[in-house]
Amino acid sequence: MSYSFLRIAREALRGGAGWGRAWRDPAPKPHYDAIIVGGGGHGLATAYYLAKEHGLTNVAVLERGWIGSGNAGRNTTIIRSNYLLPGNEPFYEHSMKLWEGLEQDLNFNTMVSQRGVLNLFHSDATRDAAARRGNAMRLHGVDAELLDTEAVRAFVPVIDFDNARFPIKGGLLQRRGGTARHDAVVWGYARAADRRGVDIIQNCEVTGIRVEQGRVVAVETTRGPIGAGKVGLACAGHSSRVAAMAGLRLPIESHVLQAFVSEGIKPMIDTVVTFGAGHFYISQSDKGGLVFGGDIDGYNSYAQRGNMPLVEDVAEACVALLPQTSRLRMLRSWGGVMDMSMDGSPIIDRTPVEGLYLNAGWCYGGFKATPASGWCFAHTIARDEAHALNAAMRLDRFATGAVIDEKGAGAQPNLH
Ligand SMILES: Cc1cc2nc3c(=O)[nH]c(=O)nc-3n(C[C@H](O)[C@H](O)[C@H](O)COP(=O)(O)OP(=O)(O)OC[C@H]3O[C@@H](n4cnc5c(N)ncnc54)[C@H](O)[C@@H]3O)c2cc1C
Repeated sequence: MSYSFLRIAREALRGGAGWGRAWRDPAPKPHYDAIIVGGGGHGLATAYYLAKEHGLTNVAVLERGWIGSGNAGRNTTIIRSNYLLPGNEPFYEHSMKLWEGLEQDLNFNTMVSQRGVLNLFHSDATRDAAARRGNAMRLHGVDAELLDTEAVRAFVPVIDFDNARFPIKGGLLQRRGGTARHDAVVWGYARAADRRGVDIIQNCEVTGIRVEQGRVVAVETTRGPIGAGKVGLACAGHSSRVAAMAGLRLPIESHVLQAFVSEGIKPMIDTVVTFGAGHFYISQSDKGGLVFGGDIDGYNSYAQRGNMPLVEDVAEACVALLPQTSRLRMLRSWGGVMDMSMDGSPIIDRTPVEGLYLNAGWCYGGFKATPASGWCFAHTIARDEAHALNAAMRLDRFATGAVIDEKGAGAQPNLH
């Protein structure tokens, strides 16, 4: 069933009686050409592009819970392509271009809102860093504008310009950046993949990976063994645990990242702003809640909730930037498990096990990557080689030294 204005009008007249399920609920088959482990945005996008771009339709996505129950449904929904390094920037720009056409492509309202992403700076040194990043973006053909204080004031008048400790010296703006509705992205990819024949199997946890003579042949699941020609792992925060089932030790640590939503208020911020003197970002949802977050909790964990010290840290940054928020009540907070790589950049690659592929290391920035990640991972799985866009995102770069040190990361992920 196609979604369209006419369809909505027709269903409105029939009391919505004609809406069918958005995707099927099939039982697992004994064997698939390709199995994707993890029904988050990346796993579902991979399955969709495997079917759409490479004609591979005997594909299953296995999800241990419900689709979108991981980070895909927990993030703060920011999309942007304001990266610095050549190993990253073209990839994220490809993602941005896919976002720009996603609703038509999936025939689903993913609520992509290009409301702009503004990274503030508060010192001369950080202005230099922002200018360098902006120049690198422009050299890649990506939009970037360096705003001075007055231009920032005109763009986001609501932030505190009188803070003596963190003066607003300007900001780097990407107008094409913004937000998308995270659940809708998951549902849109699921529906579009299903329509092309992909089986989406929820409540099906992968508990083992069968490898024979160096080649993956099947996965063990809570719903029995399932044979597979190829297996792609897109398990985000659980990547290390699942890869260990095939004997792989990944250069990844899992940490909690929290997000927060305030009570709903009248429109206050119509863009995305990040604080340059700490790690803090904020936007406002269509329902009126302020949506914000900051650093990861500084310890390893697989829990989907965080601790108080980070709540305090994020609230401090919020009030430093927007003092008026001190009078707001927090409505909800939650946590997601982040797959923190050692250089802050992702991995989309083959693994030493034949037929086993890895998509991981997204840290706290994988939502914006969802379309390009699925697109590149599908290419890597179908063609058995990386696309130029993910060629640098190799698993062995931590051994060879060819890291993509995007964030100037420290020795541990909690220094990102
Ligand atoms: C609080 C928070 C804020 C964030 N904000 C942003 C942001 O603003 N912008 C941005 O770009 N990124 C952001 N991120 C990061 C982004 O959400 C993730 O990088 C991205 O969602 C990861 O890819 P995914 O969607 O495939 O992951 P997930 O949705 O986590 O998918 C992985 C899936 O694998 C499943 N799985 C795990 N183990 C197994 C198994 N053994 N068998 C079967 N299934 C299994 C899990 O249940 C899960 O559903 C944020 C994350 C969090 C938590």
